[in-house]
Formats: sequence, structure tokens, C-alpha cells
Amino acid sequence: MELDELTFGTFGDDKLYMYDANNDIHSKECRECRRVRLATEFSKNASGFGKLGSQCRSCMAMLKRIKYSADPAHVKSINDAWRKNNPEKAALIMKRSTALRKARMVALPATLTGEQMASMYKHFNSSCALTGSTTDIHIDHAIPIAIGHGGTIVENMIPLRGDLNISKSARNIFEWFVGIKPRLNLPQSRFDFTIAYLADLNGMTSAEYRDYVYECHGKVV
Ligand SMILES: [Zn+2]
Repeated sequence: MELDELTFGTFGDDKLYMYDANNDIHSKECRECRRVRLATEFSKNASGFGKLGSQCRSCMAMLKRIKYSADPAHVKSINDAWRKNNPEKAALIMKRSTALRKARMVALPATLTGEQMASMYKHFNSSCALTGSTTDIHIDHAIPIAIGHGGTIVENMIPLRGDLNISKSARNIFEWFVGIKPRLNLPQSRFDFTIAYLADLNGMTSAEYRDYVYECHGKVV
């Protein structure tokens, strides 16, 4: 689309919009970020200008996050009500996201053997790699399965206390550790020992392993 095929105009409090040669809305200004965005970057809203919502999708998502952190119970009740009123759509969305997640997971290698698990445990003195705790040990995927990288392979597994494993979730282990370290007073030396172990199994230096993890998280499948 050439720019000279577009008709410019303003609406509301001087916000910009553009129509294409067919008189279809091409783009408009987002009320929140004030960027002129393509019509496809807005969700539909019958009462909005051009039958589009007034905020772009990324602003909507951001506002939703802010709202959720302010009153999660309220947002949950709205979402629950929507699901109740739109059971077919809700089931479809759920099914699609489950299928995508499963597809990502089954595509990953899962070759971890009992023998490998035993030697991993031994390496960490049968305790949590980061706390030394010997109770409630989970086997954590250092690179989370949910991002579509790594896999259930010895090169990606470490023993972690249950609460740490849950808190880490699908996050980048390096970024996660920076946040959790001061809160739980975790020793840097244990983290470095753990990273050195993973790096070695992957045939890398610790610095190379760090780059590799960041690369994986940057390319979420
Ligand atoms: Zn916006």
C-alpha cells in the first residue's frame, strides 16, 4: 500500500486515522500509546471508531496486566463469566493452547535414563542444587520445556527444591536467579557450580552456556 493511496483524517481528540482507496480503515491512532497502528493491530469493537477498539492489542494486553495485578479476583470473575457465556469458544481456545503446548513438548527429546538421573543426584549430593535442601526435591528443566527448547535430557536437568522449581516456572534461569537470590539469601557459589555442571554436560563454557540459554529464551517456539 502506497502512502498516497491513503486518506488522512482525525477523530476524537485529534487522533489520526487513514482510509485506503476502498474506504476501508487502514490504520488509526491508539488512545494509549498514541502510535498509528494498522487496523489489524486492534481488536474489533462495534462502538469504536472504524469498528475497532480504541487501544491497540499490545496496549490492551498491558492494561489487562496492570488491572490484573491490581485486582486479580475481579479479572478472574470477568474471565470466568465470559467462559460461562461462551463455552464453545472457551473450549476451543483451551484446546488450541493445550495442543500447541503438547506439540512443542513432544517435539523435544526425552532420553533421560534412571542411571543418568542417579549420577545427577550424586553430583549434587542428593540435594537441591541451589539450597542444599534434601527434602521436596523436584527435577527441574533448566531450559523450560514450555519455551520449546532443551528437552528432558540429562544435559538439561537439575535437582531443585519444590518451591524454587515452581517459582522458576518457564523463566530464564539466569534472570530468575538474580531476583530470587537476595530474597532467599541463596549463595552465588551454588548457582555457579550448577551452571558449570550444565555447561560441561553441554560441551560449553559457563559463558557460552549463558548465551545459549538467552538464545533459547529469545526464540520462544
Ligand atoms: Zn497502543
